Amino acid sequence: MSTRHAISDDLLMGYAAGHLPPSHDLLVATAVSLDDGARARLAGFEAVGGAVLDDAEEAPLRPGSLDAVMARVRNAKPVSISQPDGRADVLPAPLRDAVGGDLGKVRWKAAGMGVRHALLGQDEGGTIRLLSIPAGQAMPDHGHNGAEMTLVLQGAFVDGSERFARGDIEVADAATEHQPVAEAGQDCICLVVTDAPLKFSGLLPRIAQRFLKI
Ligand code: ZN
Repeated sequence: MSTRHAISDDLLMGYAAGHLPPSHDLLVATAVSLDDGARARLAGFEAVGGAVLDDAEEAPLRPGSLDAVMARVRNAKPVSISQPDGRADVLPAPLRDAVGGDLGKVRWKAAGMGVRHALLGQDEGGTIRLLSIPAGQAMPDHGHNGAEMTLVLQGAFVDGSERFARGDIEVADAATEHQPVAEAGQDCICLVVTDAPLKFSGLLPRIAQRFLKI
């Protein structure tokens, strides 16, 4: 049996109202592109939201910023989700826009124990990054200083008794101490938004954190 871990209404409403920081916007746009149910809920909020939107002045966009990417995402028409050779992209359209292509364009950095990460953006709301965990491997056991949202793009991970696969979101907060484990068979690639630096419990991860600022 599998449980569906869909994106929350709170995030969809924030997105519809244009009240989220760009890091969170990108996560929501990516999650919605993988989940028809979430897309339908968002459409509902957008219809309602049009009536209640405050007419705040638009801030000018910095070229190359996440804001600029999100402006393009919001204006973009739906893009085909398969490549010319018929193989499905791992990165949904909003992420391909942010990265400049599919996985081959990601500029990974080693984070130890085979884990790789790539920072996509940083703003007042936190950081957004791609994370790749080798198949079958556990992430370091860690707590959180703030909120962490993890959207699975490839493979799956298990956290306690729950399984998260492509399109699923896990939300962790300051009360969560957990150790997600990537399933065997395929490296697990996730999109992760954190609003504060993670607090790792083990000594080695803590040292690594100082170097990598993850
Ligand atoms: Zn976590």
